[in-house]
Amino acid sequence: MTTRRVNLNTESVDNYLKAIFTLGGPDEERVTSSALAERLGVAPASITNMLQKLAASLSPLVEYERRRGVRLSPAGRRRALEIVRHHRLLEAFLYEVLDYPIEEVHDEAERLEHFISERFEERIATKLRHPNFDPHGHCIPAMDGKMPKQVSKPLTDIEEGGKFLVDSVSDHDAILLKQLKAHGITPGARLQVTSPSQEEFVLRAGSPSKALRLSRALAGAVRIRSED
Ligand SMILES: [Zn+2]
Repeated sequence: MTTRRVNLNTESVDNYLKAIFTLGGPDEERVTSSALAERLGVAPASITNMLQKLAASLSPLVEYERRRGVRLSPAGRRRALEIVRHHRLLEAFLYEVLDYPIEEVHDEAERLEHFISERFEERIATKLRHPNFDPHGHCIPAMDGKMPKQVSKPLTDIEEGGKFLVDSVSDHDAILLKQLKAHGITPGARLQVTSPSQEEFVLRAGSPSKALRLSRALAGAVRIRSED
């Protein structure tokens, strides 16, 4: 197969790389086209098409086999981490400096992450004193792409109630984020979980305020760790 230079829209390439990075998880497992299609809201045929282009470009950003799925090449991983760093730094900046509500920072960062310069990125990092976490509790990769593994698990993994710390909350559901915030369920908060079941989780944070009942589907958006 001949290698050719492909002219691809950078913004959509970045979104593919970021989605592969996120879906692959900490162990960087291969990601299926259907999982990508769902995440990006794109038809499976377009996914295949794009992955073939990314795998065939001059310095390939992904390794792709139709049957086994896709994973990032070292170059693709570097690029993905750069975008994730932009995204999470922007979220922290919007939240801490511009006073955006937590449920609005993600969408704004999605737009801005593709366009900021290295200088702008460095300025934000300096202004915020090089933060390690974004407002959702997710690790911000360092300049050199290093990112510590977070030791946490989804709330839905627990079988018994108890006391935990909120590690992070998903940035994808603005309505849920608002609800969590209203109940004091934010990264670092102490969380009391009573009687988890197949259907629902009953959560209390901070003072014995009113409980929040979450369905199993929604509870997966909260990641917890044990109290230190
Ligand atoms: Zn986000």
